[in-house]
Amino acid sequence: MREYLQFYIDGRWVDPAHPRTAEVVNPATEAVSGTISLGSAADVELAVAAARRAFASWSLTTREQRLDLLRAIQAEYARRQPELGEAITEEMGAPASLANGFHVGLGAGHLQTAIEILKDYRFEEQRGATMIAREPIGVCALITPWNWPMNQTCVKIFPALATGCTMILKPPQLAPYSAQILAEILDAAGVPAGVFNMIQGAGSVIGTALSTHPDVDMVSFTGSEPVGVQISRDAAQTVKRVGLELGGKSPFIVLDDDDLTANVTGATAGMMGNSGQTCSAGSRLLVPAARIDEATAAAAAAADAVSVGDPTGNVAMGPVVSMAQYDIIQDYIGRGLDGGAELVAGGLGRPEGLDRGWFVKPTVFVTTNDTIIAREEIFGPVLVIIGYDDIDHAIEIANDTEFGLAGYVNGRDTELCRAVAKRMRTGWISINGGFDFHAPFGGYKRSGNGREWGEFGFDEYVEIKSMLGYG
Ligand code: NAP
Ligand code: MG
Repeated sequence: MREYLQFYIDGRWVDPAHPRTAEVVNPATEAVSGTISLGSAADVELAVAAARRAFASWSLTTREQRLDLLRAIQAEYARRQPELGEAITEEMGAPASLANGFHVGLGAGHLQTAIEILKDYRFEEQRGATMIAREPIGVCALITPWNWPMNQTCVKIFPALATGCTMILKPPQLAPYSAQILAEILDAAGVPAGVFNMIQGAGSVIGTALSTHPDVDMVSFTGSEPVGVQISRDAAQTVKRVGLELGGKSPFIVLDDDDLTANVTGATAGMMGNSGQTCSAGSRLLVPAARIDEATAAAAAAADAVSVGDPTGNVAMGPVVSMAQYDIIQDYIGRGLDGGAELVAGGLGRPEGLDRGWFVKPTVFVTTNDTIIAREEIFGPVLVIIGYDDIDHAIEIANDTEFGLAGYVNGRDTELCRAVAKRMRTGWISINGGFDFHAPFGGYKRSGNGREWGEFGFDEYVEIKSMLGYG
């Protein structure tokens, strides 16, 4: 049983102003795995005041001082990696191999990237007689979701630290453990008091107190659209900058060539990774209509081959995060069936032999782009396959969505892949599995307005100052 009852405020572990706790449930067993404290607005007051005080000195530190700190954090992070992986499996159900691999690795990757960027990030740039400075925006509220807990926290914390900001992290109630360990890492690495603060608790309480706080300069949020809209409203009263990273229904276009089966197989396995709980998941698989039977057979085989079960064991897929999430996904699968979509793998209910834990069957439908399951983000292991007549039709389907977070195109014809990528209205496109920690990540349309990762992730946290007649 884990017990994390204190918050990290002003460089110390402190009790909540008004003690209140909540149990955390292991999604693979449905058993309580530990207890956390739930904070209140009074804790937010203390943390914001600490962050404001610390900003006066942290914002004036040199590049070298910040690099030293990031390197100290890197050493501490490396030491605690196995604990982080274990916590992630326990809190949100990612299989051990994924938790210890990609989950923890994404955090480490953002840290290493922040170090690389900080080495020569242009804080000052002279153009003619004008000096343009990039200065830290101030006190930042970082509000994060449970689906990739280390990715979401690290992609915010390290650029914020590197640019000279101070911050308050509000981790998700569903995945509080890894954030607690991350706070311990930052503490052990010697982050100065008040620069980083962490308060656990309900988004409706802590998140709202942060978004409306007059002394918070910016909110960086990753999560759902309704909450992003609410935060924007709350933050508008004090004219804060708001960075939003929201959901998606991302198209994965497979070109008509000899690699079709392999590409469909890879795309399907990718969709089922992390139980489909990835904002950038390629959840709409677009394949040549003339070869839809071939594609469907490959996708069904790939979905059926996904091993589902106890995430502490050697499986490809664990449970989804909670009963609420399980119910939402079941509802979507039901709506797919009711709406006449053709089910080719998975379906309703738990996988055979699993009667406890929030396990979902890796599910594949063939449908059209106008159905609910093709239009709404399901946030579970449910793939929809849609046929296209030609490339123009594929692009039309790909862009016919309210979202615009990610896109994928796989095929042998590099020129065609590039042409397709250029025509997709999304912020992040992977061609044949391309991946890059330095590439900006964020959404067009209703998928958000910010850009995280790499140098663009630094830009989120700076104000631009012009000094005219400088010299
Ligand atoms: P969520 O319900 O929006 O929660 C995200 C965070 O916001 C949690 O910490 C939550 O606190 C907090 N929150 C809730 N209400 C709030 C309020 N009124 N004011 C301020 N903060 C509030 O999202 P989720 O269910 O955790 O995550 C799933 C969604 O996030 C999906 O739509 C997914 O696509 C999206 N997502 C997007 C990205 C991206 O990078 N674009 C990445 C991951 C996830 P609680 O702990 O109380 O819930
Ligand atoms: Mg939520």
